[in-house]
Amino acid sequence: MSLPWAKSDKQYVQQRVKIDPKTECWNWKLSKHPSGYGSASRGGYQRAHRLAYRAWKGAIPKGLYICHHCDNKDCCNPDHLFVGTQSDNILDAYRKGRFRKRSNNASLKDEEVRQIKVALRDRGDKPMTEIAKEFKVSPEVIYLINKSETYKDIKI
Ligand SMILES: [Zn+2]
Repeated sequence: MSLPWAKSDKQYVQQRVKIDPKTECWNWKLSKHPSGYGSASRGGYQRAHRLAYRAWKGAIPKGLYICHHCDNKDCCNPDHLFVGTQSDNILDAYRKGRFRKRSNNASLKDEEVRQIKVALRDRGDKPMTEIAKEFKVSPEVIYLINKSETYKDIKI
């Protein structure tokens, strides 16, 4: 991909992102680091979202991380970025459920099953895959609960 020389870091980022009209995420179009973050090379290799943060918001305090409100690692929208410590970053990921994905066999808490059953009862036209996403489980888990193949004893 050959792009005109960017006069500023802002322009450099803007030339290399595609804005998602729904989420307003600025998705990095070029290569990605194996970690999932966009990879920029301007004045040396760096992570694209960090370059974007510096260009719009200013210097990143030493030792701190740039976290995403949108949970989208290759997003470079400065409004979706915030400074945090490593533990903020981990806590944030935990809150957003990145660590909650479980296997089909892992057991759910009774209260969670109850909530899923209520969601299934009231789902209307909502697909089961949507409910699965909301509860961060695989669609099979929802399907089995819906068919009363699992967690039969939990009543709502
Ligand atoms: Zn975003």
